Amino acid sequence: MTADLAGKTVLITGASSGLGLHFADLLAGKGAQVVLAARSLKAIEDAASRIVSAGGMAKAVAMDVTNRASVEKAFAAIGSTLDIVVNNAGISLPASALDMTEDDFDAVLDTNLKGVFLVAQSAARAMREAKRPGSIVNVASILGFRVAGHVSAYAASKAAVIQLTKSMALEWARYGIRVNALCPGYIETPINQDFFRTEAGKALINRIPQRRLGLPQDLDAPLLLLCSDASSYMTGSTLVVDGGHLVSSL
Ligand code: NAD
Repeated sequence: MTADLAGKTVLITGASSGLGLHFADLLAGKGAQVVLAARSLKAIEDAASRIVSAGGMAKAVAMDVTNRASVEKAFAAIGSTLDIVVNNAGISLPASALDMTEDDFDAVLDTNLKGVFLVAQSAARAMREAKRPGSIVNVASILGFRVAGHVSAYAASKAAVIQLTKSMALEWARYGIRVNALCPGYIETPINQDFFRTEAGKALINRIPQRRLGLPQDLDAPLLLLCSDASSYMTGSTLVVDGGHLVSSL
């Protein structure tokens, strides 16, 4: 598979930590000009400087994906040369469905679903206007297919992202814009490391057929596939990367 992204401009939302930061390094390493987006600039400016010092191309833009004005301002700063978007920003505010507050429910849906919609819509409008083909990768989750306790809003938001991905793929194919969803299983990142050392965390790992958590690097080839022309005949697809978790025995 060739995944040379030289000459491509890639926007990554939620790039200040975890998978988004990892994706920025990965895509810059493949020659792309990466635009790191997050609500506060400090962490992404540091990351962009680090990438540039290492010989890559990167810049940082402030963007709150839940806020249309913020998204539009960021797109104005990015310009009309966008080729690829990785819709990665997401939150999970675990609570039982009985106890979850309306504010938390709204925050999860606003970030994970409306955020993907606003960013993808702005990107597709820019691509159509510039008559440039593009690839949009929406980061969903295996919780878009199955459920677990205390993540009802998150699971609902990710299921909706999968349907949104398919709808956008259908509508935007005529403009040469591909839209696919990457659906990770449980990937070890700084925010969940402590949980996976608890008894409940270890029990969860035991239910994964491959008996291990994913690492951010396990997403590298799938992400590069969806971002690059190697997947030029893929749109509206969902790519699951989960060590077999979705096919675990009932
Ligand atoms: P993370 O918390 O490290 O990263 C999420 C990023 O999104 C952070 O940088 C955060 O600042 C940013 N963000 C949150 N709200 C935002 C907003 N309104 N505007 C802009 N940025 C915002 O978590 P992560 O594990 O790296 O998750 C990244 C994505 O991968 C999420 O969409 C998550 O749902 C998905 N995912 C993660 C896992 C996993 O196991 N880590 C599994 C499946 C899916």
